[in-house]
Amino acid sequence: MLSGFINHLDLTVTDIKASSAFYDKVLGRLGYVRTTDYAGDVPCWVLSHAGMTLSIGLHQARVATAHNRYAAGLHHLAFHMASRAEIDSFYAFLLHEQFAVLDAPAEYDYTLGYYAIFFADPDGLKFELVHEPRFD
Ligand SMILES: [Zn+2]
Repeated sequence: MLSGFINHLDLTVTDIKASSAFYDKVLGRLGYVRTTDYAGDVPCWVLSHAGMTLSIGLHQARVATAHNRYAAGLHHLAFHMASRAEIDSFYAFLLHEQFAVLDAPAEYDYTLGYYAIFFADPDGLKFELVHEPRFD
């Protein structure tokens, strides 16, 4: 195990049932497997590869404050994608599911060939799928 890589990420959501349906579809399509191994009624999805494991869990919000990515907290979270074609395919999936697409697939000049799509969960948490040729 390499020290320093993310072990787990827990998010707080307004409606855990609605969000679970969203994350079941989105994380399932990314290869995550839903598990019931996480204590305290926390829905959890796990991705494992080459000895690395990342789990993403959901917690029920206890206050009614709306998410604002320009306040302190999470701005957005990006997932690696192996190709542009996978991002384009994911875009079609998001449209089919009528999930909130923030920015359709496009190239950005962050790094050479940076290609990304942005979308949001039911609370407006922003996610990105990105392919960067430098990691191929
Ligand atoms: Zn980003």
